Amino acid sequence: MAKEKKGVRLEHISKIYQDPKTKKDFYAVHDANLEIAPGEFVTLLGPSGCGKTTILRMIAGFESPDEGQIYLGGEPINDLTPNKRDTAMVFQSYALLPHYNIFDNVAYGLKIRKLPAEEIREKVTRILGMVGLEGMEDRMTNQLSGGQQQRVALARALVIEPSVLLFDEPLSNLDAKLRVEMRTEVRRIQQEAGITAVYVTHDQSEAMAIADRIIVMKRGVIDQVGDPHAVYYRPVDEFVADFIGESNFLRGKLAEKEGDTGVATIEGHGVEVDGVSAHSVGDDITLVLRPEAATLADEGVLHCKVTLSRFMGSYQNYQVMVGNTLVKIQDFNPKTHKIYEVGDDAFVSFTKGDVHAL
Ligand code: ATP
Repeated sequence: MAKEKKGVRLEHISKIYQDPKTKKDFYAVHDANLEIAPGEFVTLLGPSGCGKTTILRMIAGFESPDEGQIYLGGEPINDLTPNKRDTAMVFQSYALLPHYNIFDNVAYGLKIRKLPAEEIREKVTRILGMVGLEGMEDRMTNQLSGGQQQRVALARALVIEPSVLLFDEPLSNLDAKLRVEMRTEVRRIQQEAGITAVYVTHDQSEAMAIADRIIVMKRGVIDQVGDPHAVYYRPVDEFVADFIGESNFLRGKLAEKEGDTGVATIEGHGVEVDGVSAHSVGDDITLVLRPEAATLADEGVLHCKVTLSRFMGSYQNYQVMVGNTLVKIQDFNPKTHKIYEVGDDAFVSFTKGDVHAL
């Protein structure tokens, strides 16, 4: 598609709904600011009810923001109806026309736009090739598997050549294996089409696998925006650290500091830590340690007692107590490392840079 790529910008976007039970107004989305680059793939990630779909629907034009402005390609679009917005949505429910064949489903949006029949055939054929449904034009959509139906839904959205594709949990009706296959496909197709994509999911591994950047939402607000590496290794708070992967939270006091690195005291022991630039010596701080970044050893700084030890195939799963703090450990080298059993004394071991202050 030789179309100019367009980005999306949200400026101070808020949406207020009324709680049907209490009749009180509340912010479903509050003061969202976001710049999505042309051709970028972003996911809106967060638990149920945090406002992801509301943001998506406001970009699509199905809902209007109560505050703020949305821009597409630099142009304000708040006042445009959905069909004038140069966006297309792929729904969780596929939203296909059940009594039509694949060709007619995909051609529908082009017929409405009154394109010549020859051009419609050419575009539909090309898009069906892109989504891996070539030669299946005549199949009825109610005779297709879930994965095939989702490909048709994607083709329907792509064929009108929108600048922005909006995905509302598009893979959640598929079984786990197909979901993993399809997310790679969605990413490949988005890149091939060179299109900007905004993708709603509450599945953190899907968000990690598919996105250039992840927008983590919490109770109507954007909590963190970053690439998968940043949200995983540099979570801004406990919510993100807990929502994306697993985390141990160690409570300590900052004892020394130089720039962004320092030494924190945890359960009476000094531990080197990153990410302390915003803290002062003497502050109570919370440190994040990922379970897979830690192992057990016979010597070290943080003494612990093993309370759980399970072989999980690819890793040895431990729970240990460091003083009164429970620490989860996943040792991904169970073949070469010493295995500790319940009741053993050991030391929690990790390398500098694996412990990050919130
Ligand atoms: P999910 O993952 O469950 O789809 P979400 O993050 O997409 O959740 P939204 O659908 O954006 O969440 O909803 C945000 C909040 O707004 C929720 O509390 C929801 O109940 C509420 N809400 C959504 N639509 C309306 C509406 N039309 N009227 C009143 N409240 C609404």
